[in-house]
Amino acid sequence: MKPVIALVGRPNVGKSTLFNRLTRSRDALVADLPGLTRDRHYGEGRIGERPFLVIDTGGFEPVAKDGILHEMAKQTKQAVAEADVVIFLVDGRQGMTPHDKTITDFLRRSGRPVLLVVNKAEGMKYTSVTADFYELGLGDPYVISAAHGDGVMDLVDEALDSA
Ligand code: GDP
Ligand code: MG
Repeated sequence: MKPVIALVGRPNVGKSTLFNRLTRSRDALVADLPGLTRDRHYGEGRIGERPFLVIDTGGFEPVAKDGILHEMAKQTKQAVAEADVVIFLVDGRQGMTPHDKTITDFLRRSGRPVLLVVNKAEGMKYTSVTADFYELGLGDPYVISAAHGDGVMDLVDEALDSA
């Protein structure tokens, strides 16, 4: 089985941008994976000789109890349950939000390995873009720009080593 990486984070942190950068093909392969549910967005990626699957999620919005946002949180939970490793994206331009803390609590309970990743970090200093996020207790954050590609390959290598 290929390792499964789930992309998790609140809406607008850049999950789909990262997903699109990581994947070449999608959807077609889902039919070959009887263990995986179809209602999420799966793609296949490869770094060198290392293939992997990646799951995009709508975005974890833990406060809402009804409607579409609740549905997205449910899908995120299912994606995490299927994952070997979680890439938890936060927004380095917006900084920390209460939702980031709620997601952290949920991810900790999941028992999955989690890489904390500060996105939108192009042109920003590591120390300033990461400072907010140490209080999440997830260790040294990774820093990427999903839009520009900075740091993405190293991140995936690290994720696959943790899977
Ligand atoms: P999602 O809701 O988490 O899937 O986020 P999206 O991938 O849809 O991105 C939300 C917004 O952030 C879009 O306007 C993206 O263009 C922007 N974005 C994503 N990645 C980056 C990045 O690395 N740098 C900057 N500056 N913007 C980004
Ligand atoms: Mg998205």
